[in-house]
Amino acid sequence: KVRTRFAPSPTGFIHLGNIRSALYPWAFARSQQGDFILRIEDTDLERSSQAAVDVILEGMAWLGLNPDEGPFYQMQRMDRYKAVLAEMQAQGLVYPCYMSVEELDALRERQMAAKQKPRYDGTWRPEPGKVLPPVPDGVKPVLRFKNPQGGVVAWDDKVKGRIEIRNDELDDLVIARPDGTPTYNFCVVVDDIDMAITHVIRGDDHVNNTPRQINIFRALGKEPPVYAHLPTVLNEQGEKMSKRNGAKPVTQYRDEGYLPDAMVNYLARLGWSHGDDEIFSRAQFLEWFDLDHLGRSAAQFDEAKLRWVNAQHLKAMADDALAPLVAEQLAKRGLQADGRLPRICALFKDRCETTVALANWAAAFYADVTPNADEFAQHVTDAVKPAVAALAAALKEVAWEKASIAAALKQVLAAHGMKMPQLAMPVRVLVMGTAQTPSLDAVLELHSREEILKRLGKV
Ligand code: GLU
Repeated sequence: KVRTRFAPSPTGFIHLGNIRSALYPWAFARSQQGDFILRIEDTDLERSSQAAVDVILEGMAWLGLNPDEGPFYQMQRMDRYKAVLAEMQAQGLVYPCYMSVEELDALRERQMAAKQKPRYDGTWRPEPGKVLPPVPDGVKPVLRFKNPQGGVVAWDDKVKGRIEIRNDELDDLVIARPDGTPTYNFCVVVDDIDMAITHVIRGDDHVNNTPRQINIFRALGKEPPVYAHLPTVLNEQGEKMSKRNGAKPVTQYRDEGYLPDAMVNYLARLGWSHGDDEIFSRAQFLEWFDLDHLGRSAAQFDEAKLRWVNAQHLKAMADDALAPLVAEQLAKRGLQADGRLPRICALFKDRCETTVALANWAAAFYADVTPNADEFAQHVTDAVKPAVAALAAALKEVAWEKASIAAALKQVLAAHGMKMPQLAMPVRVLVMGTAQTPSLDAVLELHSREEILKRLGKV
């Protein structure tokens, strides 16, 4: 059974580049009837925060990337790591190294001076017949992993193709600190084994860790999973997307009115393709997703395209499904929506890219509007005021539905010898705050008669 995982470190607010590394393993698990596991890699106590964990959980829930198992927290698995360490020690797979920081620095400097790659030289690695240096007093050792000597570590990366690393390029990795706490690469392997992960799909900033992790897998008698290393996501300036250069937390897109399905669609395309398909539903994505069509080059975030994708989903969405999302945005402004909202969505969604934009229009139905000053000056002139008053009078009498409202408009136009825009523009400004609205009879019908009379009466 396919088992994938997302293993974020809660060391900053998760952004779109990060959450794409959740989308693909989630989609792969779903498309294979497998399991998707969430593991929070929170061992960097200095940099991890609960707030960052919350954004991960909220962002995933918002996008519907629901784990089948987890969240597991590495900090809660320390006993397990220590037990595996003890086992490895008993089997002679690791050894204590007493080299001090000063000695390591000196070694590094010698190697750099000789134009060699800095690497641990194996001073404390026990070998048959080798005499180790005397153990210094009062020094707590690190534990190092006995990396295989000679040969290569190779894997067929689902994105990058075959990768081969010579073992003599890898030194003996520290897998426990002097205080006994396990280090990152080791915890990842123990977790991936315990969680029976079959496919590791993650950012390619981890490619360098992979040969080391594979060696630890094998030392523990396990075959490593399949790896797929995803190219970086670049921001609009072409830099690696990161919080430091302004990447927004995922949840901010929710607040800005993006739809979960549109985000899934957009993120899916940021590094994966299905022919020329740009707009697709979540169900289609899950049906189509595979590891063979992951892109090999870095993908670049493009906010204009994200807005376009969102607009397509907004248009396609059923008004009854859209209305609650717009109601949420209205509620944030203290406005209480009602049964008219689906019809308001239907009328305005074509001109909106986000639910926030849609809420801006809908707000005119649930609160007073302040007409745009320029448009007011341009359209609500003294010359049209008598016609506006006549329209108000006519609207007092008519049945409140589109056809009768349209008839009243026509009748006032005829009586005042005006063309439609001359009357429609000022009425729109008074009723909606701006002259750029959909068909006036449809707009008027969605308001109550009282409200329209009140707004037209303000001239
Ligand atoms: N915790 C790592 C990160 O956030 C991911 C580790 C992994 O996927 O193996 O970059």
